[in-house]
Amino acid sequence: MDIGAMSEDAARAKFKAIRWEASNGDPVCPACGGLKHWTLGSGHKWKCKACRTPFSVTVGTVFESHKLSFRKLLGIVAVFANGVLGVSACRLSREVKISYKSAFVLLHRIREVMGKDDEAAPLSGVVEIDGAIFGGSLPRLPNKKELWEEFKAKNKAAARKKRKLIVVLRERQSEDPNVPAKVRTFLLPKEGDAIEIAKRMVVPDTIIHADRSTQWEPLHLHFDTKRIDHSKSFSDGIACTNQAESFFQRMRCAERGVHLHISGAHMPRYAWELGWREQYRRTPNGDQVDMILGLISRNKPSSTFRGYWRKRSENDNGSLASIAS
Ligand SMILES: [Zn+2]
Repeated sequence: MDIGAMSEDAARAKFKAIRWEASNGDPVCPACGGLKHWTLGSGHKWKCKACRTPFSVTVGTVFESHKLSFRKLLGIVAVFANGVLGVSACRLSREVKISYKSAFVLLHRIREVMGKDDEAAPLSGVVEIDGAIFGGSLPRLPNKKELWEEFKAKNKAAARKKRKLIVVLRERQSEDPNVPAKVRTFLLPKEGDAIEIAKRMVVPDTIIHADRSTQWEPLHLHFDTKRIDHSKSFSDGIACTNQAESFFQRMRCAERGVHLHISGAHMPRYAWELGWREQYRRTPNGDQVDMILGLISRNKPSSTFRGYWRKRSENDNGSLASIAS
């Protein structure tokens, strides 16, 4: 409601203040970092006096190629931040009146930059590590019951191939309640591949909790490791990985309740988003909006979603052509 009542100028000023926080909202050249500039046209574009690059406030940010009003862009971030389990592209397109296709691409670009939040910061204290499988559901069963067995036998192997393993490294809350405990997620071929990541990202004197899976054995070589046998109990007073499981519960709820299906190709981005949401779950939503805007303004969109729908329709035409021939 607050954003709806904002003027376009106020919305632009908010984005400028977050993007150029260090210079109190004064334009900074994205090419050379120069502070001196000429103002062009209506005053919303500038030209750098040092390198002569023309730029606007969205150049070099996730919003670079989107021709939407600033009020709408803020609205998108607010609706997105308010979804505890995430927001589907369909819902976002209805709430802020943009096309489904641009909502889909924008959401994925925002998820991507959420994965870059503080990504190099090491984990310390007590860390829980665990993996879980997502995706790979069977297509809808045929109507005739007698065809089910044959259908399952045919499709099960294909569904298994589509399943993805997400490994989470989750810090337990330290004594300081103002520092959110970090949550990091990775898409990996097998759990054992997370050992190298742990060696790189976790401070050496950290205590790691893991389950009894044999893939975690090498952790004992590098860290003080506690193991919990899930066939007996979920917590024995010494070890437990319940906080890692609780993150997976958030992912499962989001997959079933918000998106209905998450394709394997997009799985890591959803994991980054939900990891971020888990990490900052106690941060007020107004602050979350500012934090997401900060991530958007500090990061360029990757090439992953450039011309996504055009490429997709070209592929569809290609496959139709091959069927026709
Ligand atoms: Zn410049």
